[in-house]
Amino acid sequence: MTPIRFEISAQDGEARAGVLTTRRGIIETPVFMPVGTAGTVKGIRFEELEEDLDARIILGNTYHLWLRPGIDVIKAAGGLHRFISWDRALLTDSGGFQVWSLGKLRKISEEGTEFRSHVDGSLRFLSPEVSMEVQAALGSDIVMVFDECAPGAASHEDTERSMNLTVRWAQRSKTAFDRLQAEGADAGRREVEDLSGAQALFGIVQGAGHLDLRRTSLEQTVNIGFDGYAIGGLSVGEEKAVMFEVIEDIAPRMPKHAPRYLMGVGTPEDLVEAVARGVDMFDCVLPTRNGRTGQAFTSRGKLNIKNAQWINDQRPLDESCRCSVCRRHSRAYLRHLYIAGEMLASILITHHNLAFFLDTMRGLRQSIRSGDFPKFRREFTERLGANGE
Ligand SMILES: [Zn+2]
Repeated sequence: MTPIRFEISAQDGEARAGVLTTRRGIIETPVFMPVGTAGTVKGIRFEELEEDLDARIILGNTYHLWLRPGIDVIKAAGGLHRFISWDRALLTDSGGFQVWSLGKLRKISEEGTEFRSHVDGSLRFLSPEVSMEVQAALGSDIVMVFDECAPGAASHEDTERSMNLTVRWAQRSKTAFDRLQAEGADAGRREVEDLSGAQALFGIVQGAGHLDLRRTSLEQTVNIGFDGYAIGGLSVGEEKAVMFEVIEDIAPRMPKHAPRYLMGVGTPEDLVEAVARGVDMFDCVLPTRNGRTGQAFTSRGKLNIKNAQWINDQRPLDESCRCSVCRRHSRAYLRHLYIAGEMLASILITHHNLAFFLDTMRGLRQSIRSGDFPKFRREFTERLGANGE
């Protein structure tokens, strides 16, 4: 038996609608996963994620949770689900991207990555084995292999070296993961019908903007064998055209019957365009991070609540949004809250942004199932420019 099951229910061109069954519930794809960096999706309560937004899966960051509160605290609580009181699916990243993002503060070797903790300055070491150990203790339902990311502008030679390291780390991740599962280290284990009850492990395709390296990376990652496959290392400073060139080339070559996850991307239009190229899963900090700085995503484009033009505007953030914020509050009120430094401004705009991202995914799924995806894509893109921002 496998830890997850993935069934494609409809396809329109390369766009797929499917059902991902995990040990903590059913997730319809394409899906957007809100990012819960430190055990919280910033600015929103779990009740709202469940009841209002119906988020089926959220992300946790291994790097952040490992450094604070630390794995002992989460172990004592019985794993991350229990610690944060979230019984739906959780995906954890490997920490690879976060330590890579530290730039000069880290040192990468064959063995792993040494870095200084941003919390207390202590010297730490993260490797495939450590990452698998931490993710087992967290008990997430989907675990990511420990990878290395090459900068968007990296040369062919540097990218190849980095990509090969990622493949070796993927193999080490798999070996450590299998050992930990056998030892019963997975804190989130749950017996469910027709599934193994174990964690699922996803491999990550790297290779920056070099298509030949991307294809080699995919082939070698698939050879190791994972439950799902991610495209990593995009949206890290490369041109948008390069990002879509990689997705268009790689996604259709990925195993058909496994979920395809595009890591850390992106804007609503990016999601629609990546779905058109065959991607099933997404995560991004944009709806929450931009919500905190007063930027709303709407069906007519971005809206900056700070702008004076909203001072007496009684319309909701998005007239076609049915979220609880848009049903209740005006732009004038939200702008007032933001200008007055009220924390409710961040909370409400974050809520709307997440609702907008999840509604967009719902619309995508419906359009793929009804054969209307090209129409949805065209109308979505046309509307986005309407705010003129
Ligand atoms: Zn709304």
